[in-house]
Amino acid sequence: MTLVEAARRVGGQALLAERLPDRAEFGGLITNLAAEAERAGARIITGTVVDLAWIDRERPDVVVLATGARPRRPPLEIGPGATVLDAWEVIRGAPIPEGRIVVADWRCDWVGLGVAIRLGRAGHPVVLGSNGTIAGQRIQQYVRDAMIAAAERARVERIPLVRIYGYDGSAAFFQHVLTEDAVVIEDVAALVLALGHEPVDDLLAGLDDYPGEVHAIGDCVAPRTAEEAVLEGLKVASEL
Ligand SMILES: Cc1cc2nc3c(=O)[nH]c(=O)nc-3n(C[C@H](O)[C@H](O)[C@H](O)COP(=O)(O)OP(=O)(O)OC[C@H]3O[C@@H](n4cnc5c(N)ncnc54)[C@H](O)[C@@H]3O)c2cc1C
Repeated sequence: MTLVEAARRVGGQALLAERLPDRAEFGGLITNLAAEAERAGARIITGTVVDLAWIDRERPDVVVLATGARPRRPPLEIGPGATVLDAWEVIRGAPIPEGRIVVADWRCDWVGLGVAIRLGRAGHPVVLGSNGTIAGQRIQQYVRDAMIAAAERARVERIPLVRIYGYDGSAAFFQHVLTEDAVVIEDVAALVLALGHEPVDDLLAGLDDYPGEVHAIGDCVAPRTAEEAVLEGLKVASEL
């Protein structure tokens, strides 16, 4: 069994999750699973992108695709020169301009709320516009309560029930999801997008005629959570 990872470290999105405020424990997922894989005899290769040529050359009996997801960027009306970042860039330490930052949060999970807290703690005035009735709506109740308390302390202004549709470099334009009224936030230095993820599944289509077994697990099937990714990996592996 060989695990091939494109990045320098295994962990995928968990490497981002552990960098959200107060979430360092999430990194335990990576160290625990990597140690278990090595104990079970798996060879781990990092810094190597698997493409069709690689698969053709190595000819594995079984291919398990776990290529994950990338940030979703739906079409928005963005003015020339406007600073727009996605949440992953912010977590990785992209420079943030001075002034009010608006976080547009479509999925109402850890990402929008976590990035807003991080920016608030760094001293930015932050407005978090979420698509649900409450920021963090999709996450477990006690985690959500702790994150909302942290957002409150970091002075993150929260606006529920809004979806982003544009940013002209100064004003961010949302629409209320129930009334459909415009909700405009003025004097915005940058817009941060936390609009969910889309699967990285390019390899899958190229493997239609592959003579060995092909499986796909985790976010490359549909972006969800680490729980599904781990469970699907376990199910596929135990059936081999
Ligand atoms: C900020 C953030 C916070 C999160 N918080 C939580 C949380 O609290 N709880 C929770 O359950 N989930 C959380 N999630 C979601 C969770 O991290 C993902 O659902 C999970 O990591 C998906 O695992 P995966 O292995 O399918 O994909 P990924 O984690 O995306 O990993 C895919 C890996 O495949 C590699 N790869 C891609 N293409 C290739 C290729 N061609 N060749 C070689 N390697 C390749 C990538 O480099 C990457 O390392 C969070 C996500 C983010 C971004």
